Parts: sequence; structure tokens; C-alpha cells
Amino acid sequence: MSKAYHFKGLLTEKGWLEDVTINLDDEGRITSIGEANHTAEKVNGYALPGFQNAHSHAFQYAMAGLAELHEGTGVPDDFWSWRSAMYDLALQIDPDQLQHIAAMLYSEMARHGYTAVAEFHYVHHDKNGQPYSQLAELGSRLVAAAEQAGIHITLVPMFYQQGGFGKPAEDKQKRFISPTIEDYYHLLESSRQVVKAYDKAKLGQGIHSLRAVKPEDVVQVCKDFGNDRPFHFHVSEQLKEINDCLAFHGQRPVEWLLNHADVNDNYHLVHATHLSDAEVEGIAKSGAHVVLCPTTEGNLGDGLFRFNDFQNTKGRWSIGTDSHVSLNPLEELRLLDYGQRLTTHKRNTYYQPNRGDSGFNALKMAWQSGRKAMGHAAHEFFAVGQYFDAVVADGNAPLIATAGSQHLCNTIVYSSDVSNFLGTMVAGEWITSEGKHQKTDEISSNFIKTMNDLKSRL
Ligand code: ZN
Repeated sequence: MSKAYHFKGLLTEKGWLEDVTINLDDEGRITSIGEANHTAEKVNGYALPGFQNAHSHAFQYAMAGLAELHEGTGVPDDFWSWRSAMYDLALQIDPDQLQHIAAMLYSEMARHGYTAVAEFHYVHHDKNGQPYSQLAELGSRLVAAAEQAGIHITLVPMFYQQGGFGKPAEDKQKRFISPTIEDYYHLLESSRQVVKAYDKAKLGQGIHSLRAVKPEDVVQVCKDFGNDRPFHFHVSEQLKEINDCLAFHGQRPVEWLLNHADVNDNYHLVHATHLSDAEVEGIAKSGAHVVLCPTTEGNLGDGLFRFNDFQNTKGRWSIGTDSHVSLNPLEELRLLDYGQRLTTHKRNTYYQPNRGDSGFNALKMAWQSGRKAMGHAAHEFFAVGQYFDAVVADGNAPLIATAGSQHLCNTIVYSSDVSNFLGTMVAGEWITSEGKHQKTDEISSNFIKTMNDLKSRL
């Protein structure tokens, strides 16, 4: 049945439309904006385009909050010790458990305002490292979890071949490994089939990292890439990775990649934390996007991305929650901004020529680049023919109720949290409202049972 909603405000890529009706068809796609409709459901709130979560490893949600007991272990706690704990978890999870963890995660993402996720997926095989009879079995479970939670998913199966630069895979990595390009392409084809099961699922592809694939195979996969889907790539997250790459290739990771592949605006470089001046310029010139995950990067002690320098080259960026230590998109935007403020002693991180509205600029870039990371070309926040996917800020929340339109985005980005959201809609349906996901009982009880079985959170 067709539907209509009337909002106090609707954010477009040009600014707010006030007192606006949005009309939808029976699939939840927009048929018109602004056309009066007396049957419209009145919503006392401000609709923003749903946040795009451009980087996720769903299984890691099971260890959120567990990596903070630092005393008494006797070993320095850094990214690499965290990674070892993460591998231990990856080895234990069966397909049903992965689906339950991912459904919990995606429903929580929705509650925080995300309506789409790009799942950077590299746990492919069974616990013995053997391929499942359906190669993309675990990918299919992630798609099923997104359907259960009601959000869009772009499944991005990763090519992961070896343990490090010139090093064979470790035993702990056995669930990730595709030994050859052909093996990876079979997995990709199986993944292409499994996304067909859900009308809000799409396919991407990618390479886990330069350290995880032989150089000649990185070159070949990038050469074979048809530019018909987003291509995701972890890059330059850790100083050790830069040093290992320099020792092996004589070049830095981004430098090497730009020299050996036709990097273009379908590429989404995740983290890109440690860049030389030439690499900052090179990424922007290539048109590639970066995916920034400030809360995970902060939690793992990666370092600060050169955000101001990158923005000065007109570089484009999206956000992701990566290890899911936080699921709040507003926190990602604030930490990204405050990292720059604290080091430069200036406050206008998100300034754009002719537009000084920080919150608006941040929302717009994160959304537009995030859409590209999902495999969509859309630039308009809400366009006729698109699904109506939105997060709605509460028009009764005191700070929001009293903010003029020029301060609304900033009040939401800098001074709100999920408790100030009325809910999240996908395809014109409320999938969360009043702080609860519509399937929270079923999803939570499956998740709790899974965690009790795994005993990993005790
Ligand atoms: Zn990652």
C-alpha cells in the first residue's frame, strides 16, 4: 500500500525543507516530495538521510568492550595483540552464530541511524579452513542477518591469500584464505548468487590489504576489476604495516598501490591513516574515497588520519564502525572533527568554501561518499524512485525543538545522541522506534544464547 509522511523538516543536499510531505509507493520508494496528501502520517521530527556504514566486520561485534583489561598480561597491548584475540574469536563461530551476531549488530546499527552497511567480509571457510559446500555460506548468513534487521547490505567478499608480505598464512588465518585468484573469483561468484536472496543486498569486492595478497595478484585483480561495483581495500592503518611494506616493496602501501593499479572513484581505501604528502595528493587525484573509522582507529591506537590535508585536496570520505566498539555515527563525526581541533587549535574542520555549516557538511560528505561505498551513484539525499531511508530526529527534544534551521544539523551532530531520535525508517517502514528495534526480542534472545554458548564474553 502506498504511504505518505509529513515531517517538520526534511534534509536535502541543499538544506532543510520545512513542513514537507513525502509520498511513497507500495515498495517504499519515493514518488513525490512536497505534494500535499491529507492521508499523510504526521511525524513531529526532522528526517535526515539514513547513515551509511561503509566499513564493518560483523563478527567482531561479539568482542566489543572485551579488549580493555590491560593489566597483568605481561605483553604490550597494541593492534597486533588485539588482532590475535580477534583471530581466536573468528575461529570459533559457526554459521548460525555468525547470523545471530550480525542480526544483533545490524539492528543496533539501525537504532543508531544507519540504514546501510558495507560488510568487509573475510571469514569465508569452516572451522577447519575447508570451503563450505556453498562457498559463500557465511556471506549468505550476513545477507540473511541484514534482511532480519531490515537494513541494506553491500556484501564485500575479500581476497585474503597469505599471512603477511612474502609470508604464508598462519594457522589462525585458515578460515580467510583463497590460495589463488581463481579460488577468490569462485567465492565472488557464489557471493553474487547469495545477494540475490534479498532485494536490498548488493555486491562489492576487494582485497583485504597489501600484506594479505601477493603483489602480482593484487595487480591482476585490480586489472580484471570491471568498475561495476565498489572495490574496498584496507590500507596504511598501522606503522608496522608501512615499515613491512617499505622493507618488501621499497614503497609505502598507498604509493605502491597508486603505482600499480588503476585506482579510481570506485575504490574505497579504508583507514589510510599514515600517508606521505604525495600519497595524500595521489589519493585525491585518483578520485578514490577513504573510509574513516575514528572510534575503532582510536580504540586500536592506529593514529590520526591527515584529515585537514586530505580535505584541502578535495578528498572524499565516508565513515564506518569497523570493530563496532561504537555504533554511533554522530560519535564518529565528532571524534574525526575533534582529533583535528585538538591538534590544530582551530574549530572549522568541516568548513567548505561558501558553506560554514559544519554538521551539514559532515553529514553530506559522509552520506554521498558512503553511498558510493555501497555501490550507488546517488547524490540527492531523497530522490524520486529511491527507497525512503531516513533517521528522524525528535522535534520534541528540547535542544532540537528550539534550534533555528541554520543550527539544526549542528545541534544534531554535536549535541545529540540516539535518545534524541524518534526512529529509523528503511523503505518507508519504521524499523526502529522509541529506542527499540521492531524485532528486538527475537534478535536479542538469539544473540544472548550465542554469546552464552561461545562463553567468550565472560
Ligand atoms: Zn577493517
